[in-house]
Amino acid sequence: MTHPPLAPRMNDQNSSRDEPAMGLLLRVKGIVQGVGFRPFVHRTASDLGLRGWVRNTFEGSEIWVEGPAGAVRALVRALQERPPPMARIDAVEATETNPKGLSDFRIDPSVHEEGEAALVSPDMSVCADCLREMRDPTDRRYRYPFINCTNCGPRFAIVQQVPYDRAATTMSRFNLCDDCSREYRDPRDRRYHAQPNACARCGPTVRLLAPSGHTLADAEAAIARAREMLNDGGIVAVKGLGGFHLACDATRADVVRRLRERKPRPHRPLAVMCRDMDAVRAHCQVSEREASELASPRRPILLLPRRVPSQPGATPLAAEVAPGHEDLGVMLPYTPLHEMLLEQGAPGCLVMTSGNRTAGPIESTNEGALRMLGRIADALLVHDRDIWNRCDDSVAVVRCGTLMLMRRSRGFVPLPVVLPAATKPTLAVGAMYANVFAVAQGTHAFLSQHIGDVDNVQTAEFQRESIEKLRAWLGVRFEVVAHDLHPDLLTTHLAMELGRGAKTVAVQHHHAHFAAALTSCGYSGEAQGLVLDGTGYGLDGTIWGGELLVGGPRRVRRAGHLQALALPGGEAAIRRPLRIAVAYLHAAVPEAQAMPLDLWHRAVPGEIEVIRRMVDRRFNTPMTTSVGRLFDAVASLLGVRDEVTYEGQAAIELEQLARGGHPHATDVRFGMIERDGKLVIDPAPVLRGLAKGLVARKSAADLAMGFHEALADAFAHASGMVRDRGGPRVVALCGGVFQNRILIEQTVAALAGRGLTALEPGSIPVNDGGLALGQVVVANAVVDDLAPNTVAGWET
Ligand code: ZN
Ligand code: ZN
Ligand code: FE
Repeated sequence: MTHPPLAPRMNDQNSSRDEPAMGLLLRVKGIVQGVGFRPFVHRTASDLGLRGWVRNTFEGSEIWVEGPAGAVRALVRALQERPPPMARIDAVEATETNPKGLSDFRIDPSVHEEGEAALVSPDMSVCADCLREMRDPTDRRYRYPFINCTNCGPRFAIVQQVPYDRAATTMSRFNLCDDCSREYRDPRDRRYHAQPNACARCGPTVRLLAPSGHTLADAEAAIARAREMLNDGGIVAVKGLGGFHLACDATRADVVRRLRERKPRPHRPLAVMCRDMDAVRAHCQVSEREASELASPRRPILLLPRRVPSQPGATPLAAEVAPGHEDLGVMLPYTPLHEMLLEQGAPGCLVMTSGNRTAGPIESTNEGALRMLGRIADALLVHDRDIWNRCDDSVAVVRCGTLMLMRRSRGFVPLPVVLPAATKPTLAVGAMYANVFAVAQGTHAFLSQHIGDVDNVQTAEFQRESIEKLRAWLGVRFEVVAHDLHPDLLTTHLAMELGRGAKTVAVQHHHAHFAAALTSCGYSGEAQGLVLDGTGYGLDGTIWGGELLVGGPRRVRRAGHLQALALPGGEAAIRRPLRIAVAYLHAAVPEAQAMPLDLWHRAVPGEIEVIRRMVDRRFNTPMTTSVGRLFDAVASLLGVRDEVTYEGQAAIELEQLARGGHPHATDVRFGMIERDGKLVIDPAPVLRGLAKGLVARKSAADLAMGFHEALADAFAHASGMVRDRGGPRVVALCGGVFQNRILIEQTVAALAGRGLTALEPGSIPVNDGGLALGQVVVANAVVDDLAPNTVAGWET
């Protein structure tokens, strides 16, 4: 591959030919390893007629350069202004010294030394250059499904140690052939030091296995056979970058149903992978911003509004893919293997769901996949490039022109979040649902890949194993171990175990959400935190989740909250919103008993009496201020859903219903009282209003919309009161409920109407996937003045 000459830079150099030579030592920090940075420096410096060397260090890259001052300056400018596409330059430190009289520019071997760890790039989708070669019959990598270069391919998935060199990856067992080796050693080649470099002669190969483990086909025949099976309605487990997917034709209802039955996964929407952007547009509406995000090297799953019906000419997707959902989770192929699997002749849109059994983490080894997925898939498309770090797909949505991440994993991990202040070496274990942990050191917090729901042994083991990998990789010894305040979580037990010899800090769930939101927005002043969430252990041992906090990481107080209500049967009620609706109506709107509500007929015989008795006798009825549970109750009351199979299902479907409703069509409202110096938001008037609305045969969609409006208005009103009494005017929106886009829009508007500014979610998930970041920040803010028998950071 040739590179355009650096014409203007050459002029720079010419104009400074008479200048005296200078020497400069540059230390470059950021993502500079495994992204073609050294060849870029070599090329640019050589074109500018400079001499010196570049090498990888533990911290990043080091460049020694000497020559005319103008050319040296041009090199520094090039580093900052046009680094290689996948590089990210965080800092360039320059020290001027005397020239040594070197004769050329070289790439020196890596140096291994102590210090802050170098950043490794996330996994990247196959680049356009590699795809072109893969489709070129004259290229030596024609139809080779592991083609990659310094601009693309696996990174995090295969890296075992830093500095990032081939020997420190799972590619170390493949010996480069002569041709690959030549590319690998040539600084002018696009594959110079591309650690996963390979070809059909020397690199990984693909195989199609029967569930018994017996080989059905090899190499290209394996892919062709897999494509045929997909065409014929088969389910194929496919080994990707960070783990296995289960794939099947997304247009065939019977096949998708079979996948759901076998997994089992009754309702939760399944992601799809579309052949290309045209295939995406056939089923979804795609803005320009969304298209560029879909095609970015990160290739997240993007939630896109569905086109119903599908474009004329396109085979419609099976309703079973995302039942009851207006949005579809869509991604484009991101490995060469995916590209070949989805070629013409195969279904243009495949269901591509994480290859795991319901409870466990994503499978990443061929043996594990045979054992766990052999009963679900009709065949397994495997390969022998081992996955060291498993990593699920990321999930995001484009909101107001920016990416709002709901799951931050492949393509983003292991990029660190930059902290406002240096921390002690810290482990934060997260909580339970959709868990992510964090390891922090200096000003970097490394959020882990998506771990999953840590409510079972396999997932807890996956978290333990991943913590150890990240710890070893960064070379840290934890001085602080942060965990959730809930004493019974598996992650809390893990923290106690890993925290021996360190300081363990319990961080209250919503305080962690609040701190994570402030940190991800780079806001360091005092703020209000509006935390609308599913479930989190409160200071008083009850379940919180509708909290108005004031303060920051170091010091926080509860200024207001949703009125606590009794949750019948605890965790069991979370799976049956109807029980919550019955209990809430019984406690808050006793007269609803006499109203002709549909709800009463949908309950099983005796159910209503049992729940009312439980609430009256306060038997097995934990109190909760959770807004997530209020959404559940309203969803059931409005007839959206009585039973859920995944966390947040009822709330998501209520939001969908509200999208069809008219704004300001109802006048339902929350109440507000002040108790013990706290603003208490009372849902009774809203529940009453909704019940009456149903009786008056108002549209359920309008009522759902009215509920969203009332909720946003009630909390914004409380925030306004806090501000009027001298509180801060900045309000951070956090907690899983704020994945609801209607609620964000309305809350932002309601706050703005009162002169308050909202900090909105973006690069860090607003759900529990961002919690560990907040735990890191809070734990470090309070660790030096921990008092016994108190929860750190709280004013009560
Ligand atoms: Zn490439
Ligand atoms: Zn080769
Ligand atoms: Fe939460």
